[in-house]
Amino acid sequence: MSREAVADALAASDHAVALTGAGTSTASGVPDFRSEDGLYNEFDQSDITIGRFQRDPGGFWRDWTAIHAELFEDDPVRPNPAHDALADLERADILDAVVTQNVDGLHEAAGSESVVHLHGTAATSTCRNCNRTVDTTGAVDGLDETDYPPHCDECGGVLKPDTVLFGEQMPLDAMREGRRLAEETDVMLAVGSSLMVDPAARLPRIAGRGDATLVIVNLDETPVDRLADYVLREPVEEALPAIAERAIAER
Ligand SMILES: [Zn+2]
Repeated sequence: MSREAVADALAASDHAVALTGAGTSTASGVPDFRSEDGLYNEFDQSDITIGRFQRDPGGFWRDWTAIHAELFEDDPVRPNPAHDALADLERADILDAVVTQNVDGLHEAAGSESVVHLHGTAATSTCRNCNRTVDTTGAVDGLDETDYPPHCDECGGVLKPDTVLFGEQMPLDAMREGRRLAEETDVMLAVGSSLMVDPAARLPRIAGRGDATLVIVNLDETPVDRLADYVLREPVEEALPAIAERAIAER
């Protein structure tokens, strides 16, 4: 069974790393932007570009909070067993880090501490004027849409979500750290990612070129499957807890 073999490889690893994409959060109710019923069919990408933010920050924030509504509701989305399993693996000293394409903050909510955000995070926003970073939920809480955009309490500057917007440069530090982890890892778990968007798509290729054991857990085929040692076409929220439990017991 692949699950057992993957767990054995993790238990024996020195530097395991997970790379996660939207499929890791779908069981939490966060829509997959790229899937067929994904949000990008409902919303126009041009509404949430950096150019739109600069031209029309109020309109941008109205559309952006509508897209991410599930993160800012009174009863926001919660981590699922896949997030929990990755946090457990880090606590057991098996996983060095999670590199994620997701902006939903659910890895941190599950207890993961070493998280590299390739596409930024929606959980915080930063003042364009003084660079102060605040909790996004707190910034929009109690604001009527007509009051958008939210402003900095300190200086009154406009806040921008720390998510990487379309047209905006990827965070160099995160890309560098992701690459370093991919070069150093001996077991990479690529979880719930279509592996079609750079820079995330590059990381399993880097790991796969070396001696690392490359594991892909994803319901759909990915362009990197042929490089993988194990491909598990299973729901991530079922496969990861089983793998983590066995790996931690063996450690
Ligand atoms: Zn400010």
